[in-house]
Amino acid sequence: MNEFAPRHGRNQPSSMFFWPTADRPVAVRGEGIFIWDDEGRRYVDASCGPQTTNIGHNNRRVVEAMRAQMDDICFAFRSHFKNGPAETLADRLADLGQDKGLTRAFFCSGGSEAVEGAIKLARQYALAKGEGTRYKIISRLPSYHGSTLGALSLTGDPAMFAPFAPMMQIQPKIPAPFVVERPEGESEDAAALRFAQALEDEIINQGPSTVLAFIMEPIGGAATGGLIAPDVYYARVREICDRHGLLLIYDEVMCGSGRSGKYLCAEHWDANPDIIAMAKGLAAGYVPLGAVLARGDMVEAVYDAGGYAHGHTYSAGPLACAAGLAVMDVLMEDGLVANAARQGAKLKAALEGLMDEFPFIGEVRGRGLMLGFDVMADRKKRIPLPPELNAGSEIAQACYDRGLIIYSRRMLDGLRGDHFLVTPPLNVTDEEIGMIVDLLRQGLGDFA
Ligand code: PLP
Repeated sequence: MNEFAPRHGRNQPSSMFFWPTADRPVAVRGEGIFIWDDEGRRYVDASCGPQTTNIGHNNRRVVEAMRAQMDDICFAFRSHFKNGPAETLADRLADLGQDKGLTRAFFCSGGSEAVEGAIKLARQYALAKGEGTRYKIISRLPSYHGSTLGALSLTGDPAMFAPFAPMMQIQPKIPAPFVVERPEGESEDAAALRFAQALEDEIINQGPSTVLAFIMEPIGGAATGGLIAPDVYYARVREICDRHGLLLIYDEVMCGSGRSGKYLCAEHWDANPDIIAMAKGLAAGYVPLGAVLARGDMVEAVYDAGGYAHGHTYSAGPLACAAGLAVMDVLMEDGLVANAARQGAKLKAALEGLMDEFPFIGEVRGRGLMLGFDVMADRKKRIPLPPELNAGSEIAQACYDRGLIIYSRRMLDGLRGDHFLVTPPLNVTDEEIGMIVDLLRQGLGDFA
């Protein structure tokens, strides 16, 4: 139990910046999938915060590994020293990325930083190859790639980037592949290929020699609630990138690190990305940690041309990497990636079952435990519920009131409706899935 009395109780003013915390309870303890507040109330965290606490709270093996590392050394600057945990974690990621040719890792402190690191590596590789005309990065709308200005210029959410537009160069966008919205008579694969073709059209529109890369979330997260395309999409996107000399970047900050039922989400398809951005589940909330996993030959070319001009104070810190390594051990030794695939299939089937009870559930999507659903006034015609109903926040709050945490978002001023992510830790049990589905049913019932 946390011995420290919180400085501010619930509903008391906070000196922090962020208004949404003002009326939230104070979290004092976590264990597995549960969080307790200062009044002893228990919450089932079926969200993992923002899809982060992938092995659950208070895992003793991770805590002990961190404690052992703290007893040795917490910080040693990467320009002055190597450190064991960072080297070992990089080796482990390189082993996992080997089949895809992704054998070099750079560490940072989170997802936005990983995306920044990825696009700066891409640009430096183009410069090393004598392709300095390439600088544009096409991304998808909607999408989320982070909140720092470089990552935000890729994020497909005008409400987020518009206020800062004069301060950066907003990058070109193509529609995210909502195949479910295809016209009658079009097959899923045909729709997926049509969405992929939008990439080629945009490359031509921009001028192929100016385009550096395409970035996408292989399974969509905050902006698209588990959006996954038919397999043909991934292969065709790779072909198009090759045809026009673009690098392909997968943003696996949310869907990676085992959540999709494979350690790298990219393992679901034969097509290989050139760079993967990772964070969140990498150290599963125990410390801030992100990574850029990249093709070895790219990194070598950049080094031959003078080195990777990028870095953060906390890059590859021993404590963060020791936590990341311990999280990786737990994932692998306890078989949690396979568990994510197995339990994800059960949870997805249960969510699909809820579609019979609640006609306003539009679509259940995703893979493994990277699952989401959206709500619609008309499921078939894909007409969103009226924005004034605030379905997203109402349903999420109804669940919260019943002690269940799910993640909700409204995109593009309600044009896309509201969606939810149901993303429990990868060690979720049958019993906990039952609990999540029961509480969700009650929360949806409160809204219906
Ligand atoms: N990329 C994706 C796909 C994300 O989901 C997020 C965060 O939600 C980010 C990047 C940014 O990560 P962070 O919030 O750690 O900066």
